[in-house]
Amino acid sequence: MNGSVFIIGAGPGDPELMTLKAARALREADVVLIDDLVSRGCLAHTRSDAQVIEVGKRGGCKATPQEFIERVLVQYARQGKTVARLKGGDPFVFGRGGEEMQALRAAGVDVQIIPGVTAGLGAPAALGIPVTHRNVARGVIFVTGHTKDGGEPDWAALARTDLTLVIYMGLRRLGDITASLIDGGVPGNTPACAVQDATLKTQREVICTLSALPAAVARARLASPALIVVGDVVKFRVSASINCYPDPELSRAA
Ligand code: SAH
Repeated sequence: MNGSVFIIGAGPGDPELMTLKAARALREADVVLIDDLVSRGCLAHTRSDAQVIEVGKRGGCKATPQEFIERVLVQYARQGKTVARLKGGDPFVFGRGGEEMQALRAAGVDVQIIPGVTAGLGAPAALGIPVTHRNVARGVIFVTGHTKDGGEPDWAALARTDLTLVIYMGLRRLGDITASLIDGGVPGNTPACAVQDATLKTQREVICTLSALPAAVARARLASPALIVVGDVVKFRVSASINCYPDPELSRAA
């Protein structure tokens, strides 16, 4: 008899931002596969006899190959086990959760998806930045700054939308991304923010203008995982651990 797999979003970092449904699924699981982005505090909900398997690239090692993870999920489910696949944020936002779901379905395994708070929503909210706001931003775009094949979003097209931009995995190419957005028409004095380890005790963020962001991020030595938010809504932030003020341009914008 086949078991089943829960593909679970663990939320952006703080274990308390995981859903009640996720906690319940973790309590049911015989086997838990956990990504390195997920806070270990989330494992508080697992049974003491559950087998926990860490997959991911913490410590600079190569990530566990995706095909291997999919094989392990299928293998345990076929043993009749209840498997929890715990992923950072939401499993379907830049998380390859869709691929895992497809592999499981193809293998005839029952799979349920439990959504999570994606970092793109959790990080700005934790900073007091509403990603949409009446008369300021009529929408928000989630985009990745880094793809395996080197492909890039059409930054000029995104620049023209005048919507809040939330950029995942954008740190490494921040200089190019910023230049492309400014070339595409986003004013250089648009408020922007980079936040590392959002919602965790180790959270650090830089708030400044878009044009000043790459240098400020380098000065502050922000590292992955970090999220970039660009747009006038950033002016609503409640605090900044690393502030690039006084920045007359941004003070005027606020
Ligand atoms: N599925 C995840 C995203 C996985 S991609 C989600 O929905 O959030 C990994 C990227 O997400 C990181 O490189 C970073 O850009 C972003 N990210 C995830 N957690 C983060 C956090 N706590 N703080 C800042 N960025 C985070």
